[in-house]
Amino acid sequence: MAEVLVLAEHTADGEVKKVTLELLTAARRLGEPSAVWTGPGADAAQPRLAEYGAAKVYVADSADFAGYVVAPTAELLASLVASASPAAVLIAGTTEGKEVAGRLAVKTGSGVLTDAVDVTAGADGPLAEQPNFGGAITVHSTVKKGTPIIAVRPNSVAAEPSPAAGAVEAVAFTASDAAKTAKVVEHVVAEASARPELSEASIVVSGGRGTGSADGFGIIEQLADSLGAAVGASRAVVDAGWYPHAFQVGQTGKTVSPQLYVAVGISGAIQHRAGMQTSKTIVAVNKDAEAPIFEIADFGVVGDLFTVVPQLIEEINKRK
Ligand SMILES: Cc1cc2nc3c(=O)[nH]c(=O)nc-3n(C[C@H](O)[C@H](O)[C@H](O)COP(=O)(O)OP(=O)(O)OC[C@H]3O[C@@H](n4cnc5c(N)ncnc54)[C@H](O)[C@@H]3O)c2cc1C
Repeated sequence: MAEVLVLAEHTADGEVKKVTLELLTAARRLGEPSAVWTGPGADAAQPRLAEYGAAKVYVADSADFAGYVVAPTAELLASLVASASPAAVLIAGTTEGKEVAGRLAVKTGSGVLTDAVDVTAGADGPLAEQPNFGGAITVHSTVKKGTPIIAVRPNSVAAEPSPAAGAVEAVAFTASDAAKTAKVVEHVVAEASARPELSEASIVVSGGRGTGSADGFGIIEQLADSLGAAVGASRAVVDAGWYPHAFQVGQTGKTVSPQLYVAVGISGAIQHRAGMQTSKTIVAVNKDAEAPIFEIADFGVVGDLFTVVPQLIEEINKRK
């Protein structure tokens, strides 16, 4: 069975990110997954990678991955594509992952598909499903040239264990001078939050201009905490300075695809929808029954959010 390379995303201290397990699950549909691990920490991660189907784990334990931005990772993957001739390469559709995918495509003369929300084995090779124009159109695409390189959005595939050997294969790697032109000079650790990371969260609660102020936006955090969710915001909220840009969902913010997306006081402009339309279940709270968000909501509540949300939090807390 052909190998399928999966670039393992992990934290700096070696914790395997959930999206890696999702990619391994998707890779099993296309062939035999081989995880690609960059930097230290592979020993601790190997059992988890094997549990989710990695037949092989390529380990390139080089300091170059932490010392320079994405170029060394693309270089490593290009060398593995040349030596292993995989059926496909799956990469997390994060900002960094998409940059690695693009660079890898150029290096290997291959086609690249980004923002895939599903990957299956098609008659002509891996078939990726991608939402386009803010989710208004869904396309199914295959790569016609080189090795299919597919960046898959986090939360698009449900991770399922399927134990495999996880045989570790050490790969000697030193980044070329060309890959060392953008150096990491400082790491600033984001303030730790007890909430899940926005792009990876299974539940996202987002607030819009309807919250009225930075103080009013606090109700969104309360609802998120009652559900164990990440907090998101519309651009109107970010532009008003009520919440940081890192939490903006939409065309010029983050793309999320959680199991549950709760949009509170958000009109549902096309640019916001572009970042959340592939959420599995969408719940909207808005006082305007004509708000466009209701066109894509699975459940909608027409009402004042300051009346609806406290009742919602009370009900959720009762069920805990
Ligand atoms: C190039 C470009 C890129 C953009 N990128 C993004 C992006 O990435 N993300 C993004 O979000 N937007 C983006 N926008 C902006 C987008 O067009 C909208 O302006 C924005 O999404 C509106 O945010 P909102 O829904 O919070 O505010 P509004 O459109 O003002 O909607 C507020 C909603 O709250 C409701 N409401 C008010 N008070 C209450 C209440 N008390 N209870 C319940 N409901 C209430 C109102 O009925 C209304 O529907 C972009 C725009 C452009 C041009």
